[in-house]
Amino acid sequence: MSDETNPFKNAQKQLDTAAEVMGLDRNAHAILREPEREIHVHIPVRMDSGQTKVLEGFRVQYNDARGPFKGGIRFHPKENIDTVRALAAWMTWKCSLANIPFGGGKGGIVFDPKSVSEREMEAISRGYIRAIGKFIGPEVDIPAPDVYTTPQIMAWMADEYQKLVGHNAPGVVTGKPLEVGGSEGRFDSTALGGMYVLREAAKYKKIDLKKARIAIQGFGNAGRYALELSKSMFGSKVVAISDSSGGVYDPNGLDIEKLERYKDSGKELKNYAVGEKVGNEKLLELDVDVLIPAAIENQITKDNAGKIKAKILLELANGPVTPEADPILFENGVFDLPDFLVNSGGVIGSYFEWVQNLYNYYWTREEVYGKLDKIISKSFKDTIDTQNAYKAKGKSIDPRTAAYIIAIDRVSKAMKLRGWY
Ligand code: GLU
Repeated sequence: MSDETNPFKNAQKQLDTAAEVMGLDRNAHAILREPEREIHVHIPVRMDSGQTKVLEGFRVQYNDARGPFKGGIRFHPKENIDTVRALAAWMTWKCSLANIPFGGGKGGIVFDPKSVSEREMEAISRGYIRAIGKFIGPEVDIPAPDVYTTPQIMAWMADEYQKLVGHNAPGVVTGKPLEVGGSEGRFDSTALGGMYVLREAAKYKKIDLKKARIAIQGFGNAGRYALELSKSMFGSKVVAISDSSGGVYDPNGLDIEKLERYKDSGKELKNYAVGEKVGNEKLLELDVDVLIPAAIENQITKDNAGKIKAKILLELANGPVTPEADPILFENGVFDLPDFLVNSGGVIGSYFEWVQNLYNYYWTREEVYGKLDKIISKSFKDTIDTQNAYKAKGKSIDPRTAAYIIAIDRVSKAMKLRGWY
């Protein structure tokens, strides 16, 4: 992994940039550069063949000054500790910027989720919770879904934890199905939150979303709902979308229902017969108004940042833009909204689920959406207000740095009050 694509080095660089601009106390800075705790496990799993495989897993607990650690679990063949560290740091900033009472954490297991049976998937999920069970809990650390983890997996994980402790404790994991303590509106809350940010950003930049052309990279939970909501909320035209195999482009706009039916049948987009084929890299460079990277990290680097034509870059994935790309985008006038603002709808939805679990009292979908809109629109406004406040002082900073300043300030104030430095 080169330095530019080492996500943890990037997370530290972003922190350093903001710390410098805001004049952060150097003791607070030192604490915030490293995770509080890292758990490294090896999980024995009996495979269908009868053989026992030992899988490597991590849970990084970055900072809990503002509340329990919070963050998803990823299943990925290339998972590694530096990626999990970075994602755990980003969760800390995400929860702080949203001003919800959580710290940040992240977990991962190294394996290819496409290569296992459903029974093996369940055994892996339960094995992971047995391995980290002593270090999580509704008041300690609350996992959630992320790359290749689903509500069903969350149900198994929550069940395994509740068996371990011997009592009902649904607040230990969020992103669960409704029947076992999930929340209305959690499943699409990441993309929906991103769309609320897009609405505010377009208003601010005076862009008419009805006439906007949108390209989306990724067809997971976030990308798929972004596709649907771009049309249903704003009437925008989605002209390109991809999955990990490749993508499709049609300047006249894609047929969303048809695309969804195609994907639901389990096929890959590289074989989709409609429109022009477009690779994941070329998709980013298309002439569109809004570009939504909704897949994985390190997609926009110093090598392609100069080729981005979009007016708004909405980072729905975690870490899609590297620090080397930031100044290039900023100079070119791309309005790049950072991941930990744009995709915070996911964890805000999780926060609502956790609160409902603790109260055993459940809200309607409309209540959830309304509360989500309020929180995330405020985060957008706070970010822009901070950017403008620095501009008035003669310091020109991008939205990412502005959002970092807000988030870091809140975490360091909590650490100070708790006497950590
Ligand atoms: N995995 C999501 C994220 O990266 C959600 C985390 C959560 O709900 O805890 O924000």
